[in-house]
Amino acid sequence: MTAQPAPQTLAILGGGQLGRMLGLAAVPLGVRCRFLDPSDQAGAGTVGELIVGELDDRDAIAALRAGATALTYEWEGVPASSLQPASDAGVFVAPSVAALRTSQDRGTEKVLLASLGIETAPYRLVNSRSELKDALDALGAPAILKTCQGGYDGKGQVRIIEHSAAAIDAAWAALGDVALVLEGFVEFERELSILACRGRDGETVSWPLTENEHHEGILAVSQVPAERITEALQTEADSIAQRLMESLDYVGVICIELFQVDNQLIANEFAPRVHNSGHWTIEGSETSQFENHVRAVLGMPLGSTAMRSPTTMLNAIGALPDRDAILEIPGVHFHSYDKAPRAGRKVGHVTVTNVASQRDDRVEQVRALIETASARLGDCA
Ligand code: AMP
Repeated sequence: MTAQPAPQTLAILGGGQLGRMLGLAAVPLGVRCRFLDPSDQAGAGTVGELIVGELDDRDAIAALRAGATALTYEWEGVPASSLQPASDAGVFVAPSVAALRTSQDRGTEKVLLASLGIETAPYRLVNSRSELKDALDALGAPAILKTCQGGYDGKGQVRIIEHSAAAIDAAWAALGDVALVLEGFVEFERELSILACRGRDGETVSWPLTENEHHEGILAVSQVPAERITEALQTEADSIAQRLMESLDYVGVICIELFQVDNQLIANEFAPRVHNSGHWTIEGSETSQFENHVRAVLGMPLGSTAMRSPTTMLNAIGALPDRDAILEIPGVHFHSYDKAPRAGRKVGHVTVTNVASQRDDRVEQVRALIETASARLGDCA
């Protein structure tokens, strides 16, 4: 009798909902995930071993990587220095340190995108109030001032509506004396994202372009297929992802957030990890972003990214909708992240498959249930 192969261990820095969904995708592949997270309540703890510790704690990282085949991360805020010891110990680390570092600095990110011939918003790097004025002179108002580091979900940025000394002072005071980038305001038609995955052998696959709707800077709804997508637009998005991943020696899933203007794509930023706008792939694609990420970092063949059916994903923000009411609706999938309710926090999502091309009643029912839950949370605050 041949012995059963021991399950491989994948070490993951961060144990939030992205880690949790990676863990769920890993189990059928014979892979166990081990997580490091500062919170003993981290949601990934229900799907794998959870080590509680800071993401830069050397001892905790050593425990995380012990016996692991590969190490990855579910948050781009992890210190790049946390990846090195695992790499030195012969554990395969992906996505690359270069990808992580680049994504952590909007300035570096824009310079790289431009060097690859990928269109971005016009921008200027800003390190002082007088540089901010010069940048606004060059780009004109309206414009968006963003911190180079640490911003997410619309945080760490302010809009400058008019070119005036008062507006410059207010923006400078709001973000303070840190490295900044001023971006020209892009009058986009809509926001899209491209999710792609690159294997260890360089094979690259991508999912159909996703159309995203944000509320107050937070992703609210993702829809696939995006309406009126031409082959040329998808080819351009695939090429952007491919060029970026090749330049970073990338392995794993990447998400690039895009603005569409006429028939052109403008890259806003990329995340070196699985992404909220790819949650629809769990039920809506032949292979989910989570499964392909696990496959990629462990050197397995990648799975098909074909869409199974038109799919809409709606985020539950603040509080979860009534689970049983959601489950009454046919073809609808409920995902709880086991997180305590809190205004502005992503606590779960709901996916609707086989969405009809016209407004689908089921999407509207889910939307209403989600809005009711968020409003109730607001009433309690
Ligand atoms: P970010 O934190 O860069 O993802 O920005 C959050 C949101 O702000 C984006 O999803 C856009 O809706 C909007 N935004 C960011 N940058 C720009 C820009 N240069 N022009 C217009 N809207 C922008």
